[in-house]
Amino acid sequence: IVQLYVPLNWFGTYYRSIQKNFVDMENMFDLLREEQEIIDAPGAGPITVKRGSVEFNNVTFGYLPERLILKNVTFSVPAGKTIALVGPTGSGKSTIIRLLFRFYDVETGSIIIDGQNIKTVSQESLRRSIGVVPQDTVLFNNTIKYNIKYGRLSATDADVIEAARGAEIHDKILQFPECYDTQVGERGLRLSGGEKQRVAIARTLLKAPSIILLDEATSALDTQTERNIQESLTRMCANRTTIIVAHRLSTIIHADEILVLQEGEIVERGRHDHLIGQEGIYANMWRQQLENRENNSSAESSLEKS
Ligand code: ATP
Repeated sequence: IVQLYVPLNWFGTYYRSIQKNFVDMENMFDLLREEQEIIDAPGAGPITVKRGSVEFNNVTFGYLPERLILKNVTFSVPAGKTIALVGPTGSGKSTIIRLLFRFYDVETGSIIIDGQNIKTVSQESLRRSIGVVPQDTVLFNNTIKYNIKYGRLSATDADVIEAARGAEIHDKILQFPECYDTQVGERGLRLSGGEKQRVAIARTLLKAPSIILLDEATSALDTQTERNIQESLTRMCANRTTIIVAHRLSTIIHADEILVLQEGEIVERGRHDHLIGQEGIYANMWRQQLENRENNSSAESSLEKS
């Protein structure tokens, strides 16, 4: 499926460094040991996340004071429900995810999880409670076991295997030269895009959070792999509060609410059928993706014929 979005690489190094932050923000602190911009409030205690409802109330935010990126963003995700963020590149989808992980503080408004303002709790506890499945998982130069265990370092080997089974990567790992002790990453066995996504799913299953942030991969895997991964993702997200940054609209047809962002504002919202009926931006995006898909499949079938 051809993507609606322009590739990011032409933004150059500056943009790449931003991109790194959101493709794998969960690992970011460990990988970069960056200086923290956000500090805990004095005496901040841990957050208590039970069911995992999420609320954005009138959130306004800019990375730089002179340029607002999010304007009056208000939405709520009841516990266990799924919300999808869509919109053109640069419209602020990933920014919403980064704010929820508290990489930055909102300028005005508030972000509330299970009744607690995320500003008032310790960042460590917040990040421990939220699972993140990035577009592109960065692997540590360590064993595959460690890479899965990263989701919860206190996990036992049996837990790791159970998570790997849940992510449907266990059988694959057994074929690696040293099974779970195989070195992966840049200096070890290189994993495919789909395998890396499964590592991210296994990590998240181990972490067992009530809230999951999912940054859908833009890079296309082959369709069968994609379908299989989609099934694992759906299983992982069932009964968990889920926020998806979606690129393929076919994956969010069943979302409880879709928010269409444009220049930092929510311009349309509702379920898939409702938005299609509105004949607005979302309906256009949908039509365009269908056309792309048709063009692709007719290209594929003419290839097959030739
Ligand atoms: P995409 O679909 O391309 O991932 P997006 O909707 O997720 O886009 P964001 O990454 O949230 O968009 O970016 C929103 C705007 O904020 C963009 O104009 C981007 O250039 C800007 N931006 C993002 N990160 C930073 C940063 N660290 N410093 C300054 N500006 C930033």
